[in-house]
Amino acid sequence: MNKVKYVKQYCCTVCHKTFPKESKHLTCPDCGELGILDIEFDYEEMKKEVNKEYFIHNQRRDIFRYLPFLPIEGKYIDKTLKVGWTPLYRSNKIEEERGAGPLYFKDDGANPTSSLKDRASVLAVCKAMEEGFTTIACSSTGNAASSLAGNAARLGLNTVIFVPKRAPAGKLAQLKAYGANLIVVDGNYKDTFLLSKLAIEEFGWYNRNAAINPLMVEGKKTVALEIAEQLDFEVPDWVVSSVGDGCTIAGVYKGFYDLFMLGLIKKIPRLLGVQSVGCNPFVKSFEYHEPIHEQEENTIADSISVGIPRNPVKAMDAVTNTLGCFLSVKDEDILSAMKILGSKEGLFAEPAAAASLAGYFKAFDNGVITKQDVTCVIITGNGLKDTTTALSAFKDTRYVKATLEDLKKYMKEMIGE
Ligand SMILES: *Cc1c(COP(=O)(O)O)cnc(C)c1O
Ligand SMILES: [Zn+2]
Repeated sequence: MNKVKYVKQYCCTVCHKTFPKESKHLTCPDCGELGILDIEFDYEEMKKEVNKEYFIHNQRRDIFRYLPFLPIEGKYIDKTLKVGWTPLYRSNKIEEERGAGPLYFKDDGANPTSSLKDRASVLAVCKAMEEGFTTIACSSTGNAASSLAGNAARLGLNTVIFVPKRAPAGKLAQLKAYGANLIVVDGNYKDTFLLSKLAIEEFGWYNRNAAINPLMVEGKKTVALEIAEQLDFEVPDWVVSSVGDGCTIAGVYKGFYDLFMLGLIKKIPRLLGVQSVGCNPFVKSFEYHEPIHEQEENTIADSISVGIPRNPVKAMDAVTNTLGCFLSVKDEDILSAMKILGSKEGLFAEPAAAASLAGYFKAFDNGVITKQDVTCVIITGNGLKDTTTALSAFKDTRYVKATLEDLKKYMKEMIGE
């Protein structure tokens, strides 16, 4: 069994001070909350086990296929929900219609609780079990919460989950079905996060707050490992992800970075981080070269409606290190991308996930992404999570009387013949 054998040490993303792997700090004591730690691996040792052969002979079809890349022992990996190894689709219509280069969709809505967050949650619950915790907690705009609740339920862990009151019904229903101890905070995500932080300190639960816990990025990086492997290690020129706290895009970077350091890929893709104009602190900071400022949380894309990003340094580094870009899209463009993705590719994305495609369109139209580029757009969450917003993009349903006559009339209106 893997004994976290390739973890070398922790490094503060702000002051770059290192800490031994046995240390119990979650963040750097000198830098406080922004001093999020990054887990460093011993790639020279890892290379002895992880090479192309390793993948050929590996039978697992979930994220534990990548166990040597993950900072857990692995005692519980046969008991979890099946997370990861989600489909990678080549675009059927959009690519051709736009005259774009090869376009892929990584459908992470196909995870067990229907979002990419499962990649982090399953790692968190494994780690919490390995360390003997009985209760695990987090605050979330919705998906991290429902994901943690599902993955914890599978292993018999208790959960305490903090969500803001605007969390969509689909996510709340999941939380209730998974039996979470649910705390719906009368406030926004910022208030929710702060309350969870106080409570976790007070009660000593395992902390799955994504930015704070360095393990979470390590779980999310498996999406990049999969994209690379599914493309036979010929990685795309661009990978597109929507950005809230910044942990997802930081994870995407870390995955490609690992593979690059192991000599398995020749380059790290450029990363495009997409936000909504109603809440785009990263975009502002990127464009004006200034620190991140708090913003209002004003977008239909609830999963990326994050006024104070919790992982700013890692996310900004991910984009700048790859000569990538941040941009923002309007809510109406998100809804339009959602329709296009559904009707032309058969993929139903929640607003925050459709935002990635809207961002791709904008980057392609602006010439940031060119016809020569191969791109992978990550679909971070399933559309069924928030049907209220999805329905707002469409005309009201017109009821058809149960007669052939009315049906014919309706079909004429619908198809226009
Ligand atoms: C959480 C989430 C994101 C953004 O991830 P961050 O780590 O907060 O940047 C994007 N899309 C969906 C569906 C999410 O749940
Ligand atoms: Zn530090």
